[in-house]
Amino acid sequence: MEKNNLGDMPKEDFRKYGHEVVDWIADYFERLETLPVLSQNQPNDLKNALPTAAPATGENFPQIFEDVEKLILPAVTHWNHPNFHGLFATSTSSVGVFGEMLAAAFDMKAMLWRTSPASTELEPVVLDWLRQMMNLPGDFSGIIYDTASISTLHALAMAREKLNLGIRENGMSGRTDLPLLRVYCSEQTHSSIDKAVILLGLGTRSIVKIPTNERFEMDAEKLREAIRDDLSAGHLPLCVVATIGTTSTTSIDPVDKIADICRRNNIFLHVDAAYAGSAAIVPELQDYFKGWERADSIVTNPHKWLFTPFDLSVLYVKDLDLLKKTFSLVAEYLKVAETVTNQMDYGIQLGRRFRSLKLWFVMRYFGQQGLRERIREHCRLARTFANWVDDSPNFETLAPVPFALCCFRTCPKGVDDLDALNEKIMNEINASGEAYLSHTKLNSKFTLRLSVGSIRVEERHLRKVWDLLNEKVNNEIR
Ligand code: PLP
Repeated sequence: MEKNNLGDMPKEDFRKYGHEVVDWIADYFERLETLPVLSQNQPNDLKNALPTAAPATGENFPQIFEDVEKLILPAVTHWNHPNFHGLFATSTSSVGVFGEMLAAAFDMKAMLWRTSPASTELEPVVLDWLRQMMNLPGDFSGIIYDTASISTLHALAMAREKLNLGIRENGMSGRTDLPLLRVYCSEQTHSSIDKAVILLGLGTRSIVKIPTNERFEMDAEKLREAIRDDLSAGHLPLCVVATIGTTSTTSIDPVDKIADICRRNNIFLHVDAAYAGSAAIVPELQDYFKGWERADSIVTNPHKWLFTPFDLSVLYVKDLDLLKKTFSLVAEYLKVAETVTNQMDYGIQLGRRFRSLKLWFVMRYFGQQGLRERIREHCRLARTFANWVDDSPNFETLAPVPFALCCFRTCPKGVDDLDALNEKIMNEINASGEAYLSHTKLNSKFTLRLSVGSIRVEERHLRKVWDLLNEKVNNEIR
């Protein structure tokens, strides 16, 4: 193949190979079920198969692309596989891939309106559609970041700024005038809260982990007591983080009661609905979200459960000006005359990817009804699985199933070490490539987690996991 000496790939080649890549992706989606869910590679297999330096001269695209099948594919764990049930099962839709392709083609860096009117104007429109679908009031404005960890970091930075302690100017180090700042969350909270606290210079001693009840929900009374004790000790509450859909079990903190406590004490309330927020679009699940409309900020991840390719996390905030006050810093070379929204003012990044495009595609292609029905079906499937577990003498559920995650374990009579048995069964299933389950510890018990979330999942996939589990258990107790 002839190449230009300078410039990009010849346009005829781009067209030809572009079609081949799309064909490959279409085939990939079709043959997903024939591939092992978890990569069967050993650590360093891929690294060892690759040259240690870039090629001195350019290679032909077919040669490069061949290595995707040969080298990359075996190293892929297939999040799109319908039997991916570990962590939170998340997957892209095909139309979401189109959004990524076009965003890559535009390659815009949304910093100023003038560098990216499309991203600057599409993002708030799409996020307002989502806000309405999730039944949140109109006083929330959304902004897209990459992940929930970063959304939460921004929310906590806002909460810190709201205290008016002059931290933007004076920092925190070497100051004797600052009290101990406190961030409250439950013992089931995601580690991204701890990381945000570390990054904001608050130190892990600022975190107060509030105990949870038998349903793994924050004990609001214990939160009230912790705040009362801290106030009398001269500490300063900075933020309460409540979770709707915790990572281990998808438990739901009593957000309404927590909002009462926050309001009484004038404390910033951040709601982590990274996983479960998407379920707010289903009317019959609305009760789980009671009180979240009273939060100062909410994070939800369409890349988790709205069929949008990673990454796309949304932070909804009540006070967009506070977010701007926290982060805006306009260097000379970024000053513009027009009075417009410049997305660089709302976060740590200067340039942002054009992420709203893929969510716009997803929302338009499936429509409100299509998205709602898919999430509803995932919840039905998880409940169906939980019923099989509950009806079996060899298994038990270990947490409620409000959304689409079932926490359970095998517990056949006469087995002493149930933790070891459950871990062994999980490892065997995962090693087989047939399905992927992950685990957590609940009340010191090794707990299996089955998450339902792939856009390709059907009841037969859950039946397959159930059969595998029973086969393994029967082999053990025979
Ligand atoms: N919050 C909750 C409740 C989560 O379950 C997760 C991830 O699973 C996160 C935050 C972090 O999400 P991200 O990977 O987008 O940072």
